[in-house]
Amino acid sequence: GGLISPAQNTWCPGCGNFSIQHMMKSAIAELSEEEGIPLENFVLLGGIGCHGKLADYLNVNSLYAIHGRSIPAATGIRLANPDLKVICHVGDGDIYAEGLDHLIFAAKRNSDITVIVHDNRVYGLTTGQYTPTSPTGFKGRSTPGGITEHPINPLEVMLAAGATHIARGYTKKVRHLKDLFKEAVMHRGFSLIDVLQICATYFNLTDYYNEHAYEMQEGEVDTGRFESALGKIREWDYDREASIPLGTFYSVEKPVYEEKFQALTAGRPERRALVRKVIEEWR
Ligand code: SF4
Ligand code: MG
Repeated sequence: GGLISPAQNTWCPGCGNFSIQHMMKSAIAELSEEEGIPLENFVLLGGIGCHGKLADYLNVNSLYAIHGRSIPAATGIRLANPDLKVICHVGDGDIYAEGLDHLIFAAKRNSDITVIVHDNRVYGLTTGQYTPTSPTGFKGRSTPGGITEHPINPLEVMLAAGATHIARGYTKKVRHLKDLFKEAVMHRGFSLIDVLQICATYFNLTDYYNEHAYEMQEGEVDTGRFESALGKIREWDYDREASIPLGTFYSVEKPVYEEKFQALTAGRPERRALVRKVIEEWR
């Protein structure tokens, strides 16, 4: 309904971005209804890539960031207005390559933002170059002979960096994806969902994922324990043929960066004035 903007959609037919768009729309609508969050309190940020167009396609407050730089913009927005639910839609090339430093430090600080990675394991918008999560041997535009590197396991990187909520979804399991979105947005602190996204044009892994991906059952991983999460995350390394667990691997409560910052300035009018001055100058 009203949450889909009239902008013309240019994604390829069969692209997994459609599932992410529609499930985020439903997640926002349901959270607004169930939790009483006004629609104008949701802010979406996009990076650069096919995924970034989502900022145009959903009718909520949104911002296009430069390549890999949606995270610093998101943390600034959250810092300035604690009422907002700040959601970064990013690409695997966008955030695990160009923006990796920002991602790691947002996780380290436990910044209260949600990061949704449209992980199609290829640069789609620029027609098929390899990314940090492309598997060994991937043949793309820039690597016709196949790449010789191993992919990174982004969930393992996030766990090591200090992320307090880590999950994986798949664009062909839409209801599951919506539940993951809602859970991550409501998490206090830094949350990341790596979404295995079908790129219909440059890297279509539908058959592979349909065969190997499965939804974790209750109790299959102890989401409060680092070692348990790590073990489950290592079940699949984004390379060798193995079963691919979907769901939440890790979710713990830790002090939130923006709240610590607020506490630091509370009852200190001179500090608050200084922060306000910096924000005003930045505007
Ligand atoms: Fe989707 Fe791939 Fe087409 Fe981009 S190139 S719109 S990711 S199918
Ligand atoms: Mg990509």
